[in-house]
Amino acid sequence: MVLIAGAGPSGSYLAYLLAKEGFNVRVLEEHFTIGKPVQCTGVVTEAINDVLKLDSSIIVNKIKKVKVYFNRDSVEVDIGKGDYILDRCKFDRYLGEMAESAGAEILFKHRLNSATIENEKVKCNTNKGVIEDEILVGADGPYSRVGNSFNMLNGRKYKTAIQYRVKGNFEDEVYKIYLGYGEFGWVVPENKNSARVGIVGEGNLNLIFKKLLKVIKINKILENQTGMIPLFNFNTPLSYKNVYLIGDAAGLVKGSTHGGIVYGLNAGKILAKVIKEGGNYDKEVKKKIGKELWISLKIRQMMSYFKDGDYEYLMRLFKQEKVLELMQKYNRDFPSKFLVKLLLTEPRFLKFLKLMAI
Ligand SMILES: Cc1cc2nc3c(=O)[nH]c(=O)nc-3n(C[C@H](O)[C@H](O)[C@H](O)COP(=O)(O)OP(=O)(O)OC[C@H]3O[C@@H](n4cnc5c(N)ncnc54)[C@H](O)[C@@H]3O)c2cc1C
Repeated sequence: MVLIAGAGPSGSYLAYLLAKEGFNVRVLEEHFTIGKPVQCTGVVTEAINDVLKLDSSIIVNKIKKVKVYFNRDSVEVDIGKGDYILDRCKFDRYLGEMAESAGAEILFKHRLNSATIENEKVKCNTNKGVIEDEILVGADGPYSRVGNSFNMLNGRKYKTAIQYRVKGNFEDEVYKIYLGYGEFGWVVPENKNSARVGIVGEGNLNLIFKKLLKVIKINKILENQTGMIPLFNFNTPLSYKNVYLIGDAAGLVKGSTHGGIVYGLNAGKILAKVIKEGGNYDKEVKKKIGKELWISLKIRQMMSYFKDGDYEYLMRLFKQEKVLELMQKYNRDFPSKFLVKLLLTEPRFLKFLKLMAI
């Protein structure tokens, strides 16, 4: 009854939720296995616990401190309950197994090329022939063929995220962010000897990434995990008749940090409820996570206007004890509550918020 394109976290989690409710679910996955290639840093906040219980075998590290660098300056922030660093391949396979155990069927090496609606049924052209079903869900990542087939991507914009898994010497309890490299660069340690090192931004980032690698001093590159990140667009539809988009296919990614795992799982939860009970999927998504997605985009927009002096001023404001204390308490996946508190605690942040209005 439900055909899902893509066995990434969003597709598999939705497949699990629907199959356990007794729906007949099939998932088309273009690869011969789940979880490869990895194109993700695997950082999730504790907000994931509200959706899913993580098996400890999936967590490679837990990080409680973030250190932000700009030129020679730095500020270290305690992030309260901490972030999980996931083994993304194991995570995807774990969700795939949950879906299969609940009764969903995953069809490997099945690539959806295009889809149409005929006589109220979705008709999917795949490399294995035509597959029909009643409902089609595009969980097929940033360049969604499902979205493309129904003109739902609306001139979507993308960011490039270059990432290498590397060997070196790292502080295993600190996640480092480097401002002034593309939008930002990062070092996310798996342990003392390996880390995920990356940079996100627009255009050709190779030279800037090389510069960052020199600063970080790595010993060896283990794996290239580069990928594309879609930008959320409020004017893009998330559904058309009996076709729905979730996760990266829907562009449900935070504009500020570019994290999409938790929002993808949340969209799966919302869609499962709509398929089961009825309702307006687009409205429900916008009601539940739209505000947070909008604020995240605005934060990124504001930072795109930053000059060196703005970064320096921002670092000074963040170094205050009262601000650092606040940062421990609030979850980055839900910035709206945090921003209000931040302004009440330190009104000088208003200078930056004005840029959000441009
Ligand atoms: C370098 C990088 C670092 C990132 N770091 C983080 C992070 O730290 N934290 C975070 O939350 N997010 C991060 N993200 C974003 C995160 O990876 C995505 O938001 C997340 O993977 C979205 O999951 P998804 O299931 O919607 O899509 P995907 O993970 O892209 O899964 C799509 C699935 O569909 C399959 N597929 C694609 N096309 C077809 C087709 N035509 N037919 C059949 N199958 C198809 C693919 O093989 C894949 O299995 C990062 C992204 C990048 C590029």
